[in-house]
Amino acid sequence: MEIACLDLEGVLVPEIWIAFAEATGIESLRATTRDIPDYDVLMKQRLRILDEHGLKLADIQKVIATLKPLEGAPEFVDWLRERFQVVILSDTFYEFSQPLMRQLGFPTLLCHRLITDENDRVVDYQLRQKDPKRQSVIALKSLYYRVIAAGDSYNDTTMLSEAHAGILFHAPDNVIAEFPQFPAVHTFDELRQEFLKASNRKLTL
Ligand SMILES: [Mg+2]
Repeated sequence: MEIACLDLEGVLVPEIWIAFAEATGIESLRATTRDIPDYDVLMKQRLRILDEHGLKLADIQKVIATLKPLEGAPEFVDWLRERFQVVILSDTFYEFSQPLMRQLGFPTLLCHRLITDENDRVVDYQLRQKDPKRQSVIALKSLYYRVIAAGDSYNDTTMLSEAHAGILFHAPDNVIAEFPQFPAVHTFDELRQEFLKASNRKLTL
């Protein structure tokens, strides 16, 4: 049995915080883990900025609702689901992902959760667990699935290493250079080919 694990942001949908920063013009929301490596520091900063601008969860969701998956992503997910069980492993939040997941046909998504108060203000966040992508692959392996995983960035590399086969998709040059053990591709056609190659079954396009 084989299962496909996909990262979400940068692979199937735009980077949500960057898209939100662009839509609102709030430049300081563009910071990512590349600028602030400590995720907790980064998230606390994001929540503080939301507060400073009086942005509630509903305001953020309204902007996210205008976003579209990357071109070709819904077709790719459909293609993959005909050939594999598919799980999306993401560091986003359920409260953000809903409009984008709707456009992808609601594949299974394991991610995190935002905590809001009675006024819909985002007050905190709750990570599902530590090293969640890798732990998810470990869990799927314990169910005797053969795991093929694809992602675009540093937060995916433990998942790719833990999987039976890992694929870099849309990865920046520094990630590709640092992890030469993974094939690196940039189009959905190439990604389909990599999944076929990684499979131990005789699948066709
Ligand atoms: Mg990503």
